[in-house]
Amino acid sequence: MERELTCIVCPIGCALKVEINDGKVTGVTGNTCPRGKVYAETECTAPMRTVTSTVRCENGEIIPVKTDRPIPKEKVFEAMQIIKSTHPVLPIKLGDVIIKDVFGSNIIAVKNSDR
Ligand code: SF4
Repeated sequence: MERELTCIVCPIGCALKVEINDGKVTGVTGNTCPRGKVYAETECTAPMRTVTSTVRCENGEIIPVKTDRPIPKEKVFEAMQIIKSTHPVLPIKLGDVIIKDVFGSNIIAVKNSDR
């Protein structure tokens, strides 16, 4: 089976063709660097995603957050539910851990609170 992907590792966005046999990646073409091959192999076997979202603090202020490393793609919806149900207390600084260990990643603040 052949699968076509766009590499999302860098802005070039190479068009990849991935050959899959018995659930294993047996060939990748179209990548112009080794990172594309790694991306294709991961995407076709255990896809991962970085999640970006916002949390509403106890005082109503909205703070942007993200995972500090990618999590399994099938866990993104559950991670979003956890983030939405969390209401941290200010003050918050850039890089503070807002929620620990959400499917192997911490949810961190990507902005200082204004207050
Ligand atoms: S294969 Fe390499 S050059 Fe092409 S989009 Fe992916 S990371 Fe960028």
